[in-house]
Amino acid sequence: MANFRFSALKQTLNRPIREIEYPSNKVSDYFGSMTFSLSVMREYLTEEAFKMVQRSIQKGDRIDRKIADQIASAIKAWAIGKGATHYTHWFHPLTGATAEKHDAFAQPIGNGKAIEEFQGSSLVQQEPDASSFPSGGIRSTFEARGYTAWDPTSPAFILNNTLCIPTIFVSYTGESLDYKTPLLRSMSALDTVAVEVCRYFNRDVNKVFPTLGWEQEYFLVDLALFAARPDLVLTGKTVFGHSSAKDQQLSDHYFGTIHDRARVFMQDLEIEAHKLGIPLKTRHNEVAPSQFECAPVYEEANLAVDHNQLLMHLMEKVSRRHDFKVLLHEKPYAGVNGSGKHNNWSLATDTGINLLSPGKTPKDNLRFITFLVNILKAVHDNEELLRASVASEGNDLRLGANEAPPAIISVFIGEQITKTLNEIEKMPLKQALKNNNSFDSKINIPKIPEILLDNTDRNRTSPFAFTGNKFEFRAVGSSANTAKPMFVLNTIMADQLLNFTIEVKKLTSKGIKREDAIFDILKRYIKESKPIRFEGNSYSEKWLEEAAKRKLSNHRSTPEALQAFISDKTIQLFKRHKVMNEKELNARYEIKMEKYVKKVQIESRVLGDLALNHILPTAVQYQNRLIENARGLKEVLDSKSFVKLSRGQLNSIKEISNHISAIKEGVEQMTEARKKANSISDIYEQAMAYKDLVLVHFNTIRKHVDKLEMLVDDEIWPLPKYRELLFLK
Ligand code: ADP
Ligand code: MG
Repeated sequence: MANFRFSALKQTLNRPIREIEYPSNKVSDYFGSMTFSLSVMREYLTEEAFKMVQRSIQKGDRIDRKIADQIASAIKAWAIGKGATHYTHWFHPLTGATAEKHDAFAQPIGNGKAIEEFQGSSLVQQEPDASSFPSGGIRSTFEARGYTAWDPTSPAFILNNTLCIPTIFVSYTGESLDYKTPLLRSMSALDTVAVEVCRYFNRDVNKVFPTLGWEQEYFLVDLALFAARPDLVLTGKTVFGHSSAKDQQLSDHYFGTIHDRARVFMQDLEIEAHKLGIPLKTRHNEVAPSQFECAPVYEEANLAVDHNQLLMHLMEKVSRRHDFKVLLHEKPYAGVNGSGKHNNWSLATDTGINLLSPGKTPKDNLRFITFLVNILKAVHDNEELLRASVASEGNDLRLGANEAPPAIISVFIGEQITKTLNEIEKMPLKQALKNNNSFDSKINIPKIPEILLDNTDRNRTSPFAFTGNKFEFRAVGSSANTAKPMFVLNTIMADQLLNFTIEVKKLTSKGIKREDAIFDILKRYIKESKPIRFEGNSYSEKWLEEAAKRKLSNHRSTPEALQAFISDKTIQLFKRHKVMNEKELNARYEIKMEKYVKKVQIESRVLGDLALNHILPTAVQYQNRLIENARGLKEVLDSKSFVKLSRGQLNSIKEISNHISAIKEGVEQMTEARKKANSISDIYEQAMAYKDLVLVHFNTIRKHVDKLEMLVDDEIWPLPKYRELLFLK
C-alpha cells in the first residue's frame, strides 16, 4: 500500500534542478533596484524635498505636508514604473512577523474611469483597523484603531507588485504596538549619550548608531515531505521521529559542498534579496544535514532588522518556487543542532569610526577600552534582561542543549583583551598619566594590537563574544524578530553610558582631570563586571556550577526568563530612556507569555492527535499482523516448537502493547493537564502549568512513539522518517 509518505518520497526523487537565470552578470546592475533608495530619491525629488528627507533620516526632522505630497507623488511614479499596482504600510506587529494591508493606487473618478492616486497623507500616516493584532491590553477593541507612521530611515521597496512603506505602529494614545518603535527609540537614547562619551576623544562626532550583522540559520525540507508531516505544518517542528542512523556525527555537512537544489534556492534568494537592497554576502552549509546559513554585510541596526524580517519572508516565498519549505523554528528536529541567529553588534559614528575596533593611537585605544568596558558593565548589570530578550518556546529547546549557548549570559573577550584589562586593573591610579602635555602621550594604556588575531579562534560556546571589532550575541533564536535583543542591548548600553558620564562629571567637578576620571571609573567597572566574564567552555557542567557561585541567573524556560521584563529595575530603565513605559512593557510581557502558552498548547494537541490518529492505528495494524502470524504458527507447529519459535513474535506483540498503552496513558494525562492549565486565569501560573504539567509529557510520549517507529513495518509507517526529511536527494 502506498501511503502519503511514499508518494511524497517519490515526488522528491523527481525534482528537476532548474538553474537560475541572473538578471545581469553584475549584481551591481540590479542591487537595490526595487528600493526607493537615496540615489533614486535624488533622481525623482526636487532639491528641497531631497534635502528634507535627508535631514529626516539623519536627524529625525519632521517632513511637512507639502514636501510629503511631493515625495508621495515621486514614489508613486517610481513604483508604478516598476509595475506596482498597490501600496501598503509595512510594519512589525507584536506577533513577531510583519504585517501589510494592500490598497490599490487606482481610484475611481466616476464615468467608469480611475486614476492612480497616492498622497502625502497616505505615505506619512495610516489607520489600519488593528483590532486583531495582539496589543497586550493596551488597546481595547472599542478603540481598535492604531496608526502606522512612515519610517524614512528604512527605504520603501516593491515586493509582489506592491509598494511597501516601512512604518512604526502605535496606538491612538501613543503607545507602541510594534517592535520598530522601541528599537528606534533605543537607538535615539543610545545616540545622545554615546555621542557625549565619544566627544571625550573625538570632538567632531555628531552621531552614534548601532550596527547589526545577523547570521540566519535555517533548514530546508522538501515540500512534499513537509506536507506529509502535520506536525511540521502546524508547529514548524517534528514532535516525533526516531533519530536517523546517520545524521551529523561525521561532521560532513558543515561547510561542505552545497547540494545543487539548495544552491539554486540560495541563488534565487540572493537575487531577490539583492533587488531589495539586502546585502547578502555569505552562504554555507551548517552542522546538521539540510541546515544552512546566510549572512549579509552589516548595516545600521534598524535597516538590518527590517532586512532580516524581509529576508525571512523572502525565504518562505522563494523556497516554494524550488519545492522546498524553509524551517525557521529553533529546533525542528530532536537530536541534531537547532538554528540560531547570531547578532553581530557594534557601534559606529558618523565620522566612520567603529567604536569597538582597537585604534592606532593610545587615545583611540582608550576610547575603545571605554566602550568595551562599558558594555561589559552593561551586560553584567542586566544579564537577566538580555536573557529575557531572546526567550521563546522554540529557543528554550536550544539554549543549554550542548549545541547553543546556555541560558546563562556571559561574555567572552579573548586572551589579548583579558590581558589588557588585567593590566589596567592593576595600574595604580594616575600612573596612567604622565606629566606631558599632549593628550595622546599622557595615556599609558597597554598596547592593543590592531587586529586581534586570537579572537577569531573564538570561543564558540559563549553567548556573547567579542570577535575582534564587534560583539556577537549568539543566544538569539532563528525565528526571532531581532529588534527585541537589539533594543534591549541598545538600552542597557545607553543606560550604562549615561551612568558613566554622570560619574565622569562628578569627578571632574571636583577638579580631577577627565582622563584621570575615566581611568578611575573604568578600573572599577572592570572589577565590578568580572563575574560576567567567562573564557572557558560554556557548554560544560563545571560552568553551570561556577555561574551559580557567581550568582548569574540561569532561567531555563521562557516564563521564568520573562519575569526580568517586568521587574521594577527594567521598568525604570526603559522609562528613563523613553524607550517604553510600564504599560508597553506589560503588554509585551503578556503577549509573550500568551504566545508561550498557545505554542505549547498547539504542540500538545498536534502531538496528541498524531499519536492517537496516526501512530496507534498503525501500531495496532502491525500488531494484528503479528498476532495473525502467531496464530498461523500455532496451527502449523507442534506445541513444543511453537513455544520455542514464536518467542520473537510474542515478545514484539507484548512490546508493542506496552508502547500502545503508555502512549494512550500519556496522551490522556497530558490532555487532563491541559484542561487544568486552561482553567488557570493568571498568565504566569498558566504558563508555568503548561511548562511543568503539559510539556513534561512530550518527551515521554515521544519516546514510545519513536520506539514503535523501529518496531513497526517500514511499509506502513505513515510519517516521513528523519532519514528521509534530513537528506536532500
Ligand atoms: P563569522 O566568522 O562569525 O561568520 P564574519 O566576520 O563573517 O564572522 O561576520 C559575521 C557578521 O558580522 C557579518 O554579517 C558581518 O557583516 C558582521 N559584522 C562585521 N563587522 C561588524 C560590525 N562592525 N558591526 C556589526 N556587524 C559586523
Ligand atoms: Mg558568527
